[in-house]
Amino acid sequence: MPRVVVSRRVHFNAAHRLWNPRWSEAENARVFGVCANANFHGHNYNLDVSVAGDIDADTGYVMDINRLKTIVNECLVRHLDHKNLNLDVPWFRDLNPTAENIVVVAWRVLEPAVKPARLARIRLWETERNYVDYDGT
Ligand SMILES: [Zn+2]
Repeated sequence: MPRVVVSRRVHFNAAHRLWNPRWSEAENARVFGVCANANFHGHNYNLDVSVAGDIDADTGYVMDINRLKTIVNECLVRHLDHKNLNLDVPWFRDLNPTAENIVVVAWRVLEPAVKPARLARIRLWETERNYVDYDGT
């Protein structure tokens, strides 16, 4: 049975501040640069969610991509879009909202929701040139 990966790209805008509360202001500024700005800053994030599985004999789908779109929007994007990740989103109350941590949170939220399909990879684009990948390991 051919195993195929199906992907959906979603978009959200969010603000954040990268900050380690155990460090001084100077140390935070040294490590995080402008991302440590006290008044936050925004990103236009893109998130590519990929699921893998067998092609269903009846539908010809691995997963109805419309269902994937709905799951990603309902479970994840609506909690992040136009939010301040540090202040508005409980997932990041005690977690630095780096691209790395955002993609791991996305995985934890989406993995149970896409069943019986299986998440294969999530790629989070923080800028046009910078992205992080997570495969659940
Ligand atoms: Zn940033």
